[in-house]
Amino acid sequence: MIYLDNAGTTRVDDAVLKAMLPYFCENYGNASSLYSFGQMAREVVETSREKVAKCLGADASEIIFTSGGSESDNQAIASCARFGALKNKKHIISSAFEHHAVLHALNKLEKEGFEVTYLPVYSNGIVKVEDLKKAIRPDTCLVTIMFANNEIGTIQPIEQIGKICREKGIIFHTDAVQAVGHVEIDVKKMNIDMLSLSAHKFHGPKGIGALYVRKGVPIFPLIEGGAQEKNKRAGTESVANIVGLATALELACKDMKKTNEKLTKLRDKLIAELTKIPHSALNGDAVNRLSNNVNLCFEGVEGESLLLSLDDLGICASSGSACTSGSLDPSHVLLAIGRPHEVAHGSLRLTLSKYNTAKEIDEVIKAVPKIVEYYRNMSPVWDELKKGERKHVI
Ligand SMILES: *Cc1c(COP(=O)(O)O)cnc(C)c1O
Repeated sequence: MIYLDNAGTTRVDDAVLKAMLPYFCENYGNASSLYSFGQMAREVVETSREKVAKCLGADASEIIFTSGGSESDNQAIASCARFGALKNKKHIISSAFEHHAVLHALNKLEKEGFEVTYLPVYSNGIVKVEDLKKAIRPDTCLVTIMFANNEIGTIQPIEQIGKICREKGIIFHTDAVQAVGHVEIDVKKMNIDMLSLSAHKFHGPKGIGALYVRKGVPIFPLIEGGAQEKNKRAGTESVANIVGLATALELACKDMKKTNEKLTKLRDKLIAELTKIPHSALNGDAVNRLSNNVNLCFEGVEGESLLLSLDDLGICASSGSACTSGSLDPSHVLLAIGRPHEVAHGSLRLTLSKYNTAKEIDEVIKAVPKIVEYYRNMSPVWDELKKGERKHVI
C-alpha cells in the first residue's frame, strides 16, 4: 500500500506507541486520584503538558488537553462568542476555506445572531492582511483563521494577522491542526491567543488534541463535569493518549527540518510531473504551502473516480477533505480559490509523510496520467472539450 492521505490522518510512530503502552495495563491510574498510583499518572500528564508547551513556545499552564482538533476549534469559538456576547460584541472574522469544525461552529453562531465576515482567499489560497484590517469593527470579538489549509496546504500570514489582532485587542484563534509538527510555531512571537492542534496529524494517536489558551484569555468550558484541566475541560485524563501526543509532537519538532527537506523534494517532483498532464493545475500557492501537500485539478475527470482507480492500485489518496467525501458536493475550498464547479469536483489530494519513499512517488507519477487519460476517454465532458463545444477552464 502507498499511503498518501496524511492530511486525513497519519500512522502512529513506533516510538509513540512504545511510550503509550505502559499507560494501559501497568500505570493505568486515574490522574486525579490522590494515592501515589494515581499521582504517577498525574506526573506524566504534567510532563507531557510541558513538552507540548515547549514545542509551541507556550507555558505549560496555557495547554488544555482535548479530544482533538474539532473539540479544540469548537471550544475556542464557543467560548469567545460567549464572552463577546456579554459585551455585546457579536461580530467574528474568519476565512472562506476553514475546516468544517470551524465553519459549522460559526454557522451555528450565525443562527444565534452573530455576524461572520469570511475573508476571501484568492486564487493562491491565502488571505490578505489588508482585507482583515478592513473587516475589523468595534464589535469584533474574535478572528479565527487557520494556520494551514487541510485541502490545499496553503500557509496563512499568521504572524501579521496576530500583530493586527493584538494591536486592536481582538482575540486571535488559529486552527493549526495541519501546521503543528510541520511548521515552526511560536505562539508568543506570532501573537496567537488560542491555537488548536490534533495528535493524529503528526503521527500521534487519534482522539487527542490540545487547545493553547494564552494566559489572561478567559475560557468558558464546552464540556461540563469534573474539575480536570483546572475546570476548563471535564473528563478523566486520557493518560496514554496524552503521552502519545506529547511524544509525537516532540519527535515531529525535533526532526522537522530534516522531514521538510525530504518532503519538499518529493512534493515538488510530484507537482512538476503531474502538472505535465494537459489541462491540469496545482491548487493553491506553490511556495507558501505545507511541504507534504499536493492538490491538483484535472479537467474532465471526477475526483471520486480517480480515487477509486488509485485504490485498486493500492494507493490511498483523497479528493478534498475526508468529511465531505461520500457526498458529491464540490469542495468549498476549491470554490473559495475560484475553481469553477466542474473543476472543483475533479481534484486529487496527495499528502505525504516521512514514511513515503522516492520509489512510491515514482509509482504514483506513473499511475496518475494513465488513470486521467482512461477517464477522459470515457467522459462526455472531455469529448465536448476536445471538439471545442465547451471551453477549457484550465
Ligand atoms: C483534521 C483537522 C481537524 C479536525 O481534527 P480532529 O482531531 O480530527 O477532530 C480540524 N482542522 C483541521 C485543519 C484539520 O486538518
